[in-house]
Amino acid sequence: MHVSIFGTGYVGLVTGTCLAEVGHQVVCVDIDAAKVDGLNHGVIPIYEPGLEPMVKANHASGRLRFTTDAADAIAFGDVVFIAVGTPPDEDGSADLQYVLAVARTIGKHMTRPLVVVDKSTVPVGTADKVAAAISEELAKRDVELRFDVVSNPEFLKEGAAVEDCMRPDRIVIGSPSDSAIAVMKKLYAPFNRNHDRMVTMDVRSAELTKYAANAMLATKISFMNEMANIAERVGADIEHVRKGIGSDPRIGWHFIYPGAGYGGSCFPKDVQALAKTAAQYRYESLLLNAVEAVNERQKGHLFELMERHYGGAAALRGKTIALWGLAFKPNTDDMREASSRRLLEQLWEAGAKVRAYDPEAREEAQRIFGDRDDLMLCDLRADTLAGGVDALVVITEWKQFRSPDFDMLAERLHDRVIFDGRNLYDPEEVEANGLAYWGIGRGRSV
Ligand code: NAD
Repeated sequence: MHVSIFGTGYVGLVTGTCLAEVGHQVVCVDIDAAKVDGLNHGVIPIYEPGLEPMVKANHASGRLRFTTDAADAIAFGDVVFIAVGTPPDEDGSADLQYVLAVARTIGKHMTRPLVVVDKSTVPVGTADKVAAAISEELAKRDVELRFDVVSNPEFLKEGAAVEDCMRPDRIVIGSPSDSAIAVMKKLYAPFNRNHDRMVTMDVRSAELTKYAANAMLATKISFMNEMANIAERVGADIEHVRKGIGSDPRIGWHFIYPGAGYGGSCFPKDVQALAKTAAQYRYESLLLNAVEAVNERQKGHLFELMERHYGGAAALRGKTIALWGLAFKPNTDDMREASSRRLLEQLWEAGAKVRAYDPEAREEAQRIFGDRDDLMLCDLRADTLAGGVDALVVITEWKQFRSPDFDMLAERLHDRVIFDGRNLYDPEEVEANGLAYWGIGRGRSV
C-alpha cells in the first residue's frame, strides 16, 4: 500500500520505517527541512535500538523516502498518518496546533478519497476537529471528496520502539467506517499474523484508550514512589516491599519500580492533558492530579537526599558531582522532562559542578545546556570520576551502570557517598566498600 506519514519524530519515523520494512511504499513528510535533508543522507535524528540500519536499508530499497513536500506526499498516500507532536499548552491541555495544521494541509491538497489516521496522542474529540478542518479546506476549494478519520493511537515505548512497532501488543483502531477499518486491517496485516492483535472500537474510546494506558502506567510509578517515601520514613525497605507485592499476579512485576520520578515526552503531558479534558467536562480527577503532584515532588527527591546527607544545600557549594545518566530512561537519547534536568538545576543553584555521562544523550544535553562552566559532559563513564569528584548520583538505569567497581568508587569519591536514584545497588554491598548509600525508599538510609 502507499502510505504518507506527517512527522518524522519518534513515532512517525519508526512507524514509517516499520511499514516500509514489511513492504509498503512509504513517504515521510516533515516541516523540519534539516531533519529531512539529514534523513535523505543517512543521518538518523534520534537514537533507537535497531532503527538506523532499518531506515538505511528501506531508504536504499526505495520503499522509504523523506520529503518536505506535503502536496506530493498527500498525492502519494492511500492512507495518510498524522504523527506530529502534541505538546502541552500553557494550561496543561494538549496543543493541537500541529495536528490541525496537518489536517488543513490535507484538505488543501487531497485529490482523491483518503483514510486519514490520527496517530498522535490527542484528546477525545480531536478526530472530529481533524475532520472539520479537512472539510473546511475542501469547501474553500469547492471540492467534494470522501475521507475517513481513524484514531490509531501509538503504544510504542522509546528505547524499544522498533521492537514494539514490529511486534505490537495490540493495534487499536477507532472508526465508525467498515471500509476504513478494512483499509487499516490490510495495512497492519503483516504485523498481525500469529494472532489477532487488532482491537476495533469507536473513535472516542480509541482516543481515550491511549490516555488511559499512560495514566495507568504513570499511576503505578507514582504509587510506588509514594510507598517508597512512606517506607523511608517508617524504616522499611521498598525493595523488599516491591518483591512482596509483585508476586501477586493481580499486581504483577512490571512498572512497580520506585525512582527519581517519571519523565519523557508522554507521561507528564498525557496525565496533565487527561486531567484537563476531565476538567473541561466539569470533572475533577483527584487521582490524576495526585499522580502528577507526587511525580513533581519525586523529581526533587534525590536532591533532598543530598541535602540530608550533607546537612543542607549550602554544603554542596563547590562540590563536584559525578552524574550517571541524563536521558529520561535507558536506551534513548530523549531528555524531555527528564528527572536529570531538575537535579542539574538544583545542583547548579546550590553552587555544585557536575561531570555527567550518558551513553546516548550527550549531544542532546549539549544542545539543551550549551557550554557552561558547571557542566562537563563526558565521553566515557570513567571520565566523570577523573580529576577530583566528591559524590556519585545515578539517575538513569542504563544496564552498564549496574555493577560498578565499588572499591574504585570508594577511592575516587572524596565524600565516599552514592545517591542511587533507581535502586540499582545493594546498600549492604556499597556500605561494605566503605561508601555511604542513599537510595529511594530504603528505610535503612534514614
Ligand atoms: P516528535 O516531537 O519527536 O516529532 C514530531 C515531528 O513532527 C517533528 O519532527 C516536527 O518537525 C514534525 N512536524 C510538526 N508539524 C509538522 C507538519 N505540519 N508537517 C509535518 N511534520 C510536522 O514527536 P513524537 O515523540 O514522535 O510524538 C508524536 C506524537 O505521538 C505525540 O502526540 C506523542 O504524544 C505521541 N506518542 C509519542 C510516543 C513516544 O514515545 N515519543 C509514544 C506514543 C505516542
